[in-house]
Amino acid sequence: MLYLIPTPIGNLEDITLRALRLFKEVDLILVEDTRVSSKLLNHFTIETPYTSFHMHNEHQKTPNIIAQLKEGRNIAVISDAGTPGISDPGFLLVRAALEAEIEVQCLPGPTALIPALVQSGLPCERFVFEGFLPPKKGRVSRLESLATEPKTVVLYESPHKLLKLFDQMVPFFGAARSVAVVRELSKLYESTFRGTLAEAHTFFLEHKPKGEFVIVVEGFKN
Ligand code: SAM
Repeated sequence: MLYLIPTPIGNLEDITLRALRLFKEVDLILVEDTRVSSKLLNHFTIETPYTSFHMHNEHQKTPNIIAQLKEGRNIAVISDAGTPGISDPGFLLVRAALEAEIEVQCLPGPTALIPALVQSGLPCERFVFEGFLPPKKGRVSRLESLATEPKTVVLYESPHKLLKLFDQMVPFFGAARSVAVVRELSKLYESTFRGTLAEAHTFFLEHKPKGEFVIVVEGFKN
């Protein structure tokens, strides 16, 4: 069995009992960054062996992992935070495991997009998750097509690109489009800014963006 196990995005209390049990039961844990995950695994006194598995070695390591799974080993995948496969490595291995007829389970658990969406106050019954926009090529055309998306749009963005993102969005989405900018979910300095795109731009000009952000944008209305 291949397990994808979500890990806390800030608050360690968000680990699940099932995640902890599986960490102890599996034969191997694949971790995105050994320095990050060793802290989590040590905190919960997990002694299961772990090895790195990230975007730079996933192609090279996948055949050996599939071979181990075929021999009957149980393997868990974790990323630095949140749910593997969501703006993080995981998808390639899931696809390879399914092709090899290995069972795959993703546990329910922490991810940044769902709490951000629900606490945004914007409609959350249906939504579009875009993750990170392309950094350069294709970025503007992506924004242009998202501007007419009727469902609520959820984006991830790094703090140093946040102001530029609002700048780039205004011409397409309009300055009056509602947005929620959710910062540092589950952490000490968690906060949510709710207002228009223009107000968000002004606010973050005055309050330098620091930490991790999810941007939730109101869908297009005719
Ligand atoms: N796999 C993760 C998940 O399930 O949400 C996402 C990983 S992605 C590499 C990191 C991005 O997720 C950050 O740049 C930010 O946009 C968002 N994020 C992660 N943790 C967050 C938090 N505590 N508060 C706000 N955003 C967060």
